[in-house]
Amino acid sequence: MTVARPSLSTKLEQFTESVIREMTRKALEHGAVNLSQGFPDFPAPAEIKRAAVEAIEADLNQYAITWGARSIRRALATKLEQDGVKIDPEREVTVTCGATEAMISTMLALINPGDEVVVFEPFYENYGPDAILSGATPRFVSLRPPDWRIDMAELEAAFNDRTKVVILNTPNNPTGKVFNDEELACIAGLCMRHNAVAVTDEIYEHLVYDHPDRPLSHRSMITLPGMRDRTVVINGMSKTYSVTGWRVGWAIAAEDITAAIRKVHDFLTVGAAAPLQEAGAMALALPRDYYDRLCSSYRERRDLLCGALEDAGFRVFVPDGAYYVMTDISGFGFADDLAFSDYLVKEVGVAVVPGSSFYSEPSRGAQQVRFAFCKRNETLREAGLRLQRLRAGG
Ligand code: GLN
Repeated sequence: MTVARPSLSTKLEQFTESVIREMTRKALEHGAVNLSQGFPDFPAPAEIKRAAVEAIEADLNQYAITWGARSIRRALATKLEQDGVKIDPEREVTVTCGATEAMISTMLALINPGDEVVVFEPFYENYGPDAILSGATPRFVSLRPPDWRIDMAELEAAFNDRTKVVILNTPNNPTGKVFNDEELACIAGLCMRHNAVAVTDEIYEHLVYDHPDRPLSHRSMITLPGMRDRTVVINGMSKTYSVTGWRVGWAIAAEDITAAIRKVHDFLTVGAAAPLQEAGAMALALPRDYYDRLCSSYRERRDLLCGALEDAGFRVFVPDGAYYVMTDISGFGFADDLAFSDYLVKEVGVAVVPGSSFYSEPSRGAQQVRFAFCKRNETLREAGLRLQRLRAGG
C-alpha cells in the first residue's frame, strides 16, 4: 500500500536552491579555490572580535529587544546623521539576522497580492525568491554590458500603478555598477509618481573604486529629495566588517513601514544575536580611516584578479564597486555557463558562479560567469595560476 505524502508549497516550485551556496559546497568537494560565494577568507578585524568576546563574557547572552539592542540602533542613527539623514533609533530601525532577513521581512511587510516589484537584471539571486515568497510579480529592467547602462525608456515602462517596490542594489552585485546621480534621480521620480517604495540594498556601500577621470561615490536613495519616507535602507555588518557568518543586518525606514517590518521580523526570528549586536555598535563607531583602508585593499584585489582574468582570456567587465567581477566567457567555446563552471571547478580547480543565476531568463547569462575577489592576495594569485590552464587549452 502506498502511503500518501503531504504536498509541498507550490511557491517553492518556482525557484531552485541557491546556486551561489551550492558552488561553495562544490568548491569544498573538489578542493577548488573558492571565488564563488562572496565571503572573505581573511580574518575579521581584531577589535570587532574582541568586542563580541567581551559582550559574551559580560553575559549579554539573552534576547536583545526584538527590533535590536539600543546600542546598535543609536550607533546607526549616528552613522546616518553623518550622511545627512536624521532618523529616530526608537522608531525607524530594525536589526535583523543579516541583510537577507531585512530584505525578506521588508518585502513581506509591503507586498499584497497583485503588487509588482521592479528589479534590475542581472540581480543578486535572492531577490527572485524574495519576490515569490512575498507574492509579488517581478518586472525586470536590464543593465546592459559593458558598462551596465540603463535604458531610461525601459525603466519608465517597468513602472505602473501596480508597482509597489523597486529593489535597488548599489554598489551592485553581480555587476559592480555604482548607480549615478542621474539614474538615482530618475528612479526617485518614478517612485514618487507611482507611489512606490525604494528598497535599497547598500551592503557594499564602502566599496566604491574611484576612477581618475570619473569621480565616484556611493549615494543612498534616502538622501534624495522626497525619498526620506519612501526608502527602506538595507545594510549589515557582513561585508563592511568581514563577518558574513555573524548575520547582523538592519532595515531603516519611516515609522509606519518600520512598524510593519518589526512585526514580520519578530515572528520570523525574534532577533539577531545579542552579543554580536554590541560588537556592531562598536564597529559602527570606527574612524574614517578603517573604511579607507578597507576600500584600498579591495581595490588592490580587484586589480589583481582582473589582470589575471584578462591574461587567462576572459573578457572582463571591470567593476566600479562591490567585490565581484562579471566576465564574458564566449572566447572559450563552451556550450553555456553551467558547462564552463563545472569544468572550472572540476578540472581547473576554481569555483565561480554561473551567470544564469543572476537572470530571470537563463540564456541571458549563458556566456557569463561571476568571480568574487573578497579573498587574500595569495588566494587570488593561486586562482590566476590555475586559470592559465584555460589558455593552454585544458
Ligand atoms: N552576497 C554573497 C554573494 O553574492 C552571498 C550571500 C549569501 O550567500 N548569503 O555571493
